[in-house]
Amino acid sequence: MTQRVQRVVILGGGSAGWLVAGLLAAEHGVRAGGTLQITLLESPAQPPIGVGEGTWPSMRDTLRRIGLRETDLVRHCDAAFKQGSQFVGWATGLEGDSYDHPFTLPVGHGDADLPGGWLAHHPEMPFADLVSPQPHLCRRHLAPKQAGTPEYAAVANYGYHFDAGKFGLLLRQHATETLGVHHVADDMVDVCCHDSGDIAALRTRAHGDLAGDLFIDCSGMAARLLGGHYGVPMRSQRSVLFNDRALALQVPCADADGPIASQTIATAQPHGWVWDIGLPTRRGVGHVYSSAHTSDDAAESMLRQYIQRTGGPADLPAARRLRFEPGYRSRFWHRNCVAIGLSSGFIEPLEASALALVELSAAMLSAQMPATRCTMDTVAAQFNDAFSYRWERVIDFLKLHYVLTRRSDTDYWRDHVRADSVPERLQALLALWRHRAPSRYDLPRIEEVFPAASHQYVLYGMGFRPGNGWHGRSGDAQADPEACFREAALRTQRMLPALPTHRSLISHIQRHGLPLI
Ligand SMILES: Cc1cc2nc3c(=O)[nH]c(=O)nc-3n(C[C@H](O)[C@H](O)[C@H](O)COP(=O)(O)OP(=O)(O)OC[C@H]3O[C@@H](n4cnc5c(N)ncnc54)[C@H](O)[C@@H]3O)c2cc1C
Repeated sequence: MTQRVQRVVILGGGSAGWLVAGLLAAEHGVRAGGTLQITLLESPAQPPIGVGEGTWPSMRDTLRRIGLRETDLVRHCDAAFKQGSQFVGWATGLEGDSYDHPFTLPVGHGDADLPGGWLAHHPEMPFADLVSPQPHLCRRHLAPKQAGTPEYAAVANYGYHFDAGKFGLLLRQHATETLGVHHVADDMVDVCCHDSGDIAALRTRAHGDLAGDLFIDCSGMAARLLGGHYGVPMRSQRSVLFNDRALALQVPCADADGPIASQTIATAQPHGWVWDIGLPTRRGVGHVYSSAHTSDDAAESMLRQYIQRTGGPADLPAARRLRFEPGYRSRFWHRNCVAIGLSSGFIEPLEASALALVELSAAMLSAQMPATRCTMDTVAAQFNDAFSYRWERVIDFLKLHYVLTRRSDTDYWRDHVRADSVPERLQALLALWRHRAPSRYDLPRIEEVFPAASHQYVLYGMGFRPGNGWHGRSGDAQADPEACFREAALRTQRMLPALPTHRSLISHIQRHGLPLI
């Protein structure tokens, strides 16, 4: 129990495994002056899932901490800048039904009753357009920074769109060559245990036993350690969020010099939705849907219709078919084993929260790395509490995108507004938000997954309108909303002529790189 935690063994070499390996090695590894020896075991026969192409702004900080250059990300991962999401057809499904969820906070957020001022004086304008420059930048396909803006710094807040396969390879190269992570390409065939029940080693087919003090299960949906070995069950969320299938296709760019979208475009379908992610050389397009409401073939036909409507070719190969059980584990850290990534759960890619949860898990693990086995159970209990709460908030937030729909064209959309499919906490908050805007009091933890601002963008984008008795002007919101709207418009006017197009900035970075400071 008093032996130091020195050997960390990570099972799995997808985005989760390499992000965790990179962060732990950069902050605790021997080459960084720490004491941890980090080994990553990855099956050459089971490739990573290869989807997961949209990130949050938090990825900038994660990559900076790992020591990767942003220029390398753009050059080697076909990466582009993501400034948020656009939702098409979610509220009514009628012509013109679209709203934005930008990454930049509303100007004056928390200081003024912006929703009150918007409804009283500008109800004809989309909320996001009034409070943020970012939808205006995205509409014109502008970049969120200039060629002279240093790596990872922003003019407008951004994350990334990238090729997930290339991202894994870049992380692997950096983790092994620069950070000293030991990489073993082999299959885990068994788990060896101490009498206590802790894992002692992972048995491999050809490399013997990999002994460790702490084991990170990044083995994807198979969850070989936490699920397979320890039997920690999943908490299914199928009754709340029905999607359990996805189809993925890569669509070549029709025009190699054409504009690159700077938002993930999420277009509602009769039984799910289509994601559309713009990269410099191609688009990643996929359909997420519910098998209880439609068939795989019907879903693929919808996806192909979408691709052709948006300028893609008719003769693409068959789509990749993926299945998942929407849910998360009842705990994530058990004994000396922590599950991070798809092994800990997966709901659906709406709002791209999966990699963000990987980043949050890696960051908490790194900050709380137990010195000895003695303190591990206490750290594990804190970790389990933090991530159970985070998964619940992700589920509430994703359901918010569905529950306000006025679509009634299919059972899928009608089922989504049934009261028994809506978590109780979300029902209570929706009642509260008739009287005041989502605020930090609804999301009180220090590192909430989705801030109150994101809830406002989705709520008002979906057409939610307060009832009588609005009392938005609380002690927190004393500033004049009109002054905030003027400031947002002024910032928009300054940014529009100053920012390059998204395509031209990517081309510039590929040729010349970004300045370091
Ligand atoms: C349709 C879809 C769309 C998505 N879109 C997004 C998105 O836009 N944004 C986002 O943030 N997330 C998204 N995600 C989630 C994202 O893909 C994952 O969170 C991310 O790729 C991390 O996956 P992973 O590393 O946990 O698992 P995987 O990539 O599946 O890696 C598992 C690893 O475990 C190894 N392994 C398994 N068993 C063994 C064994 N016995 N021995 C040795 N090695 C083993 C495999 O070899 C592999 O290396 C999406 C997911 C899906 C399904």
